[in-house]
Amino acid sequence: MNKLAPQGLKKKKRGMKVPYLGRISLFWCDDCNVPLLDDNHCDICKKKGHKLPVSPPGDIRPAFADDYITLWKCVDKQYGEGVGETLLPTSKIVLISRIGGLDRTEEVIVDGKILGILQFNILLNDFEFLPKLEGGILIYKIQEALTLSPKKHINLNNDGIPFVLNGKSILVPGVESFSEDINKGDHCLIIAKDNQSGKSQCIAIGLARDSSSNFHEMFKNKYGELAKNKTYIKQPPIIEIKHIEIDINQKKYNSDDDFEQINKSILISLKNAYKANYQYLQRRIKKSLKFIRKTIADIKKPVAVAYSGGKDSLGVLLLVWKVLGPNFKIFFADTGLELPEVLDNVQQIAKDLKMESNLIIESANDIFWKLIESFGPPGRDYRFCCHSLKAQNIMKIINTIYDGEKVLVFLGARQYESLNRMRSKLVYVNSFIPLQIAATPIKSWNALTLWLYILFEPVKDFESENLLEVSITPLYYEGHERLGCYLCPASNLSNFKLLKTSHPKLYERWFSFLDTYAQKHNLPKEWVQYGLWRFKQYTPQWKNFADSLNLSIDYNSPDSSAPLSLNIAKGFSQNIDADFSIKGKFSHTLKIDDFLRFLPALTNDFHWDEFNGIIEINSKFKNIPYALKIFIDGSFNLNSKEKEFDFYKLTELLTGTVSRSLYCNSCKTCINVCTQNAIRLEMGKILIDNDKCINCYDCITHCPFFQLAKKALKT
Ligand code: SF4
Ligand code: SF4
Repeated sequence: MNKLAPQGLKKKKRGMKVPYLGRISLFWCDDCNVPLLDDNHCDICKKKGHKLPVSPPGDIRPAFADDYITLWKCVDKQYGEGVGETLLPTSKIVLISRIGGLDRTEEVIVDGKILGILQFNILLNDFEFLPKLEGGILIYKIQEALTLSPKKHINLNNDGIPFVLNGKSILVPGVESFSEDINKGDHCLIIAKDNQSGKSQCIAIGLARDSSSNFHEMFKNKYGELAKNKTYIKQPPIIEIKHIEIDINQKKYNSDDDFEQINKSILISLKNAYKANYQYLQRRIKKSLKFIRKTIADIKKPVAVAYSGGKDSLGVLLLVWKVLGPNFKIFFADTGLELPEVLDNVQQIAKDLKMESNLIIESANDIFWKLIESFGPPGRDYRFCCHSLKAQNIMKIINTIYDGEKVLVFLGARQYESLNRMRSKLVYVNSFIPLQIAATPIKSWNALTLWLYILFEPVKDFESENLLEVSITPLYYEGHERLGCYLCPASNLSNFKLLKTSHPKLYERWFSFLDTYAQKHNLPKEWVQYGLWRFKQYTPQWKNFADSLNLSIDYNSPDSSAPLSLNIAKGFSQNIDADFSIKGKFSHTLKIDDFLRFLPALTNDFHWDEFNGIIEINSKFKNIPYALKIFIDGSFNLNSKEKEFDFYKLTELLTGTVSRSLYCNSCKTCINVCTQNAIRLEMGKILIDNDKCINCYDCITHCPFFQLAKKALKT
């Protein structure tokens, strides 16, 4: 049992595994009803808080207007008109903690309790609220207080109560009655009458096995399971939820018309969290400022901040501003896929900080739309676009402004966002942007720390000390939980649903492309509908989902741009001559002229036998000799006398070379990564200079098509 679970609750089952991205630190001051970012004390009442058992990764953030409205709407739809706003009034701070799931899935924290989970159901194309026990208890009390007719209720009889309190399922013999609105999969309130007090209360949450109409059938047969017991009160008497008052007379908003007022009211509530965490926040700021000062002193290079229009880079921008005032550059790499509000915000921020002349924007314009003609849509496991659009823009800026000198660039990367960011160093060089020395001063901040900082920490004019107004893009308040490219494959389907209404023209352009691509490649409509285009290779979760819909996605098509695949005709084996060998065949015949252009990056020791259509290579890899014959039909034979020879890696690099020769679209990534200046683009073709090339293979492994090559190797 989870020791941190509130008393009386039993955690029945472990959730989906989510990688550890950092310490999860969330406490609550019940007296002031505010979250605390560490357990020292609340800066308002000076009392200690209690820890909340938030699920990983623990990147807790405040809910804004659109979050509240979304919650109100789906709680009302499920449990009755007015329940949502009474449960989650704007006078209370609501926190959101993203957890693992197929699409947007978040724990909802109010009054120091995790009341439930907000989840986007991709089959329904809508949000649903899955109450936890405490959420269910409160929802039932609110339903009673508002004198609503029963919704999603299963009422137990006296015989059923002990079974449910023991964690057993809700079966026909233990049920007195139920409401008529239950659908299969609903989270139902399991209600019991307390014989002593005569009051009814929610004692468990049940997952409906069927619909109300079919429950009647079960009752006729006197047999059947109405609901699975998800979570229940372990020890009667029924738990009391302290510190939570239900106020049914509080101000109610019209969620469509009162958006501004709702957000204003939320920010007023949130300001208390800033006050309660003031000292903690000052410690975090001080530490980050110290890091910035030290890094600037150590690196001794021109300084810039890579601003994206998002909250993370805004936090870093304001920190660097505290250290340097306006004496640094702001880089903005416009991918050509930014929302207009983001572009406005970039200009506005520069104005707010009086740094217009220090803002440097490099735009990729329409490059993405050209790239996808040959790359197809990007995927979570195939993000060629970031390298081509972002990294190259930053390289262009640095090359233009600093003439090839290295630049210290502060980034808003935070470890709670991904495993890669968690693992990266505080100061590092990304091989795609070799001229950028990246430094990450807020790496260990969680989203709540960051929001309290950018929303409430005063920003003073460096000279006059007057307070400055700093603009935050309103998109965050409107439900855009992540900014950046609007069609990023990392987006959830809930993001695309929002995009459809918030920016219909942008949505239309992208989904027209996907529809056309799907038709051309004989892909089913579900490939677009359920966002399966966002993966080249499914994670187990998505594979299960595709299987559950009986979808088999076959990317192969007669199109010449079909993905490369490789059959290892004869695996790693020892032959008569005591050589070790691999024999394989690519799905495509070689475009020999193109292949020969790229081959020098793999090796210079080759001979092209035009008469027989064979390339013969006798070379060394990792100091071990090997012999490789590649035939024009795409088959090859790789031999080495040494068992230690790295067959896998060399085959991977060979596949990468074939991949480049088939698909290269002159994106220039390889030109940027080559430290020897051995690559140039002439008449739209990549050329490698044998004399300069040192066979480091960086251009092969950094080519966006190398990812395809790796996949080809796995097939
Ligand atoms: S990156 Fe440059 S030096 Fe390295 S293999 Fe490619 S061309 Fe050669
Ligand atoms: S070979 Fe170079 S230019 Fe061509 S796609 Fe790969 S990285 Fe881009």
